[in-house]
This record gives sequence, C-alpha cells and structure tokens, in this order.
Amino acid sequence: MAFELVKLNYAYDALEPVIDKETMEFHHDKHHQTYVNNLNNLIKDTVFEEASLEEILTHLDHAPEDKKNGIKNNVGGVFNHNVFWESMTPGGSKEPIGEIAKKIDEKFGNFEAFKEEFNKKGAGQFGSGWVWLISDKEGNIDVIATPNQDCPISCGKIILLGNDVWEHAYYLKYQNRRAEYLKEWWKVVNWDIVEQRYQNRNHNECSCGCGC
Ligand code: MN
Repeated sequence: MAFELVKLNYAYDALEPVIDKETMEFHHDKHHQTYVNNLNNLIKDTVFEEASLEEILTHLDHAPEDKKNGIKNNVGGVFNHNVFWESMTPGGSKEPIGEIAKKIDEKFGNFEAFKEEFNKKGAGQFGSGWVWLISDKEGNIDVIATPNQDCPISCGKIILLGNDVWEHAYYLKYQNRRAEYLKEWWKVVNWDIVEQRYQNRNHNECSCGCGC
C-alpha cells in the first residue's frame, strides 16, 4: 500500500499574501511529493510495507539499519507536511478557542506571550526544522523545535500545531527573513483544528497493537 500525496483543502493562492502561490506549488507538489516517493521506495520489502505513518514514526527502531535514517527523514517529511497544510486556512481563525485557549493562557500568560515563545523557538532553530505546539496525553502543552524532519510523535508527543522553518517554506517571498515569515504566519493558522487535536489527544493511541 503506497502512500499518496494529500490534497490541499484550499487553492495554492488562498494563503496569499502570507504564503505566495509559487511557494505553495513548489512546497506541496515538489518537496512534499518527493518525501512521499522516497518513503514508498524505502519501505518496500520492510516491516513497514503495510504500516501507517504514525506506526512508522513510533517504531523507527524496527527499521532495517541501512534504511533507518532515510525512513526517519522521509516519513517525517510526509507526516509533518500533512500536519502543516491542515494547520492553515485562508484568512486564519484569528485566535485560539476553547480548551486550548485556556491552556495557552495558563502556560504562557497570554496569547501574545505564547506567539513570542513560538516565534523565538522557530527563529532559533539552526538550519532546517520545525517549531511545534505539542501536548502530552495529560494535556500539558509546550513549545519545542526539532531539526530536519524529526517528528514529535516519535517521542510520544501529540502535535497540536506546527510551522515549517525550512528555507523552502518561505525563501521565495521572505528570503533570509525567517522571523518575518514566522510573525506573518499567525494570520493563516487554523485554530479550530488545533482545538480539535487538543480534544482528541487521548484518542491517538497506538493502533498497531504493540502497546507503545
Ligand atoms: Mn517543508
């Protein structure tokens, strides 16, 4: 069962002016597609042939030694971008809602302070990587950055929100100004989905039966 590139829920130009059409086309059709193709090639004839992305990400130690690094990079590349596209919506939804809004205030003081922390971690990620709002099963939230395509669910975390800080995500429009991209990005964040992920955090149990 080969993985397929997910379709976007909006047009390539729907996130303008925050993210331009050309960036979206390259990012989705070329970069994301390449991760999908690489992953499909890498998992052929391994224990992961019939596995879900989540199962692969939480069992990377089962990968054959010579393919371990490639599988890790490409399964993260596929999964992280799936999360990313879904985290955005044309026009954004302005501010956190529901339980996650309360939790953000409790943990960071207020929404502005949270965004500052997220932007700081995203700008501070040396080289390529991601910045995330994550939760554990108990609902404790945090902001972390990860290098390359490393995915927080490999470390047992639940992803609520993620921004891509690889240069391919912003370079055509923002060039070296990653901090500006991070600041602008809040205008397209889909807070409905963040709240939904927070509410569903206990339903993301391992589905492979290994009890991890
Ligand atoms: Mn990317």
